[in-house]
Amino acid sequence: MTKTLLLLPGDGIGSEVTAEVRRIVDALGLDVTLQEARFGGAAIDADGVPVTDETVALALAADAVLMGAVGGPKWAGQSFDTRPEAGLLRLREAMNVYANLRPARCFAALADASSLKRELVEGLDIMFVRELVGGVYFGKPRGIEMLANGERRGLNSHHYTTGQIRRVARTAFELAKGRTGRVCSVEKSNVMEAGLLWREEVQRLRDEDYPEIELTHMLADNCAMQLVRQPKQFDTILTDNLFGDMLSDEAAMLTGSLGLLPSAALGEAGRPGLYEPIHGSAPDIAGQGLANPSAAILSLAMAVRHSFGEERTAERIERAVETAIEGGTRTRDIGGGASTAEMGQAIAAAL
Ligand code: ATP
Ligand code: MG
Repeated sequence: MTKTLLLLPGDGIGSEVTAEVRRIVDALGLDVTLQEARFGGAAIDADGVPVTDETVALALAADAVLMGAVGGPKWAGQSFDTRPEAGLLRLREAMNVYANLRPARCFAALADASSLKRELVEGLDIMFVRELVGGVYFGKPRGIEMLANGERRGLNSHHYTTGQIRRVARTAFELAKGRTGRVCSVEKSNVMEAGLLWREEVQRLRDEDYPEIELTHMLADNCAMQLVRQPKQFDTILTDNLFGDMLSDEAAMLTGSLGLLPSAALGEAGRPGLYEPIHGSAPDIAGQGLANPSAAILSLAMAVRHSFGEERTAERIERAVETAIEGGTRTRDIGGGASTAEMGQAIAAAL
């Protein structure tokens, strides 16, 4: 059945990398209807808001949404509600995409690339499942308030319900079944009540519904240390919004370039997923054809896997990216001189 993919190129290199996503969709001959809409700064300029109601409606009606990147210095000075990033938060909330999947996978072809001037961990393959729409980033009450003694106090609230914990844990367990079956759940149950509930509920769900999963628990500070000390001990890491933000960034740097890392945000089964490279709009290289489109193309692979249910096609896309890199086509961020379009062409050719 024909699937619908909504492309939101966004700002900066977003439009350059999504153009290469189109190239891959064409090369695959996928049975997909492509739609496109303005998003982020581009939408602020044209429509006065970072995302219009029409675009949100298109996203909710699509099978998958693939975003390039949003933001840039041009729109940085505005109040939060009228910034490009506010459009992204609005879309995540509207789509209720509560599970953020961020694979941290090292490409064999890059592991010894001294040209990157960075140490990589060959063979690393971790899947982060980060809770995306709850926890301290969203908890109410929040704000900055005046105290009776004249001091000001900044306030955020950290809370999770059993329902919020169980739905994201289920996503992690389902994913782990297709991997090594090992899940490490990360929180601070020694000092935080929501962390204690997190640990109990994750364990309970495992005992009830996933006896085949090997579940361990780890405190977040220890996890930060273990990721540097012995990163290959992990397979799937399940954690909350705040810890997931930091730990997945930490792990990303063990694998290579920002230009290689995709992500997916998933909600209830049958609802559209939101896919995006983890990099930003990269204003320093925008418009120069230097951006690596691999992260966006690998995000397409995740959309094909999780929203279209076509595992084999997803693997084909992933192998093609690897083949192109092994074949020596590399953008500057991974130690080469290829342009965005040349990288996209090489990946299309490898398909
Ligand atoms: P944001 O706040 O939007 O996440 P950021 O400050 O994290 O943005 P990025 O836009 O991700 O920054 O860029 C960080 C650095 O990585 C920049 O030097 C940029 O040029 C580089 N970079 C990001 N994405 C790519 C890419 N796809 N290809 C090559 N270089 C990239
Ligand atoms: Mg960033």
